Amino acid sequence: MYPFPHRHLLAIEGLEQPYIADLLDLAESYALLNRQGKTQRDLLKGRTLINLFFEDSTRTRTSFELAGKRLGADIVNMSVSTSSVNKGETLLDTAATLNAMQTDLLVVRHGISGAPALLAQKVDAAVINAGDGTHEHPTQALLDALTIRRRKGRLEGLTVAICGDVLHSRVARSNIHLLLAMNSRVRVVGPPTLIPAEAARLGVEVHHHMKTGLKDADVVMMLRLQKERMTGGLVPSAREFFRFYGLDAEKLAWAKPDAIVMHPGPMNRGVEIDSAVADDPARSVIGEQVEMGVAVRMAVLDTLARGLRRNA
Ligand code: ASP
Repeated sequence: MYPFPHRHLLAIEGLEQPYIADLLDLAESYALLNRQGKTQRDLLKGRTLINLFFEDSTRTRTSFELAGKRLGADIVNMSVSTSSVNKGETLLDTAATLNAMQTDLLVVRHGISGAPALLAQKVDAAVINAGDGTHEHPTQALLDALTIRRRKGRLEGLTVAICGDVLHSRVARSNIHLLLAMNSRVRVVGPPTLIPAEAARLGVEVHHHMKTGLKDADVVMMLRLQKERMTGGLVPSAREFFRFYGLDAEKLAWAKPDAIVMHPGPMNRGVEIDSAVADDPARSVIGEQVEMGVAVRMAVLDTLARGLRRNA
């Protein structure tokens, strides 16, 4: 295992392949321990983890909380509605408060791309980006990769189709960087209005039809239609969207017969994915993604805390 050279985890872009592989290997070992019901409560003993969420989350926040608890950290959850951010406190004042509290690990979700990176410059803690605007969601990409690797035995050479609202998706952006770093073939599939202009430059194939986009895919990753980030009508209606881009059994048949189906959640059933596919245990790995989320976050917290020990 290589010593992790970064103090924070702010993005997958720029994270080198061996460190991604190391994080996945460590997460795999935590996944095994979790299944055996074993914890490692001394690893982060005496460390303080603050979950600072400026945007809603159920899965990610709970997952970080559980991960931190399994490693023995003291955890405080701060959400916008209860903090003084509502009273007009700036992000930088919040940083000063967190420093005064001697926070070791800071998990941040924010609606503005780049907010966790800004905080990282101002706090002593190791910062983990838990989703910033439309920019990145690095732990989601790691948990997706771990799920794929467990199911397919590898990442290299696989064809992964990322479908739907790619434009607004930080999950898509982090996944694209990670999968390309691990030598997977990546396609983005969606209407032209929901595919970012820079997609082709990133080195992915762009498809506007599910039939060609899903052809021979090993992995079909569906994304939530992010209405809250849309300005203006980018899709005619949810019903139209489902007809052309919603994943149902008929469209899934265009992928490889053993293709797995993923979704980061929360799902809009009947909009980007049909319940029959989402709940099909033979194809859907959505439950396993949530399970791997805890293991991946344990690996990230453990790795960054080792850096804190070195720097202390
Ligand atoms: N939960 C993911 C995120 O925070 C995906 C989504 O919201 O659609 O980006």
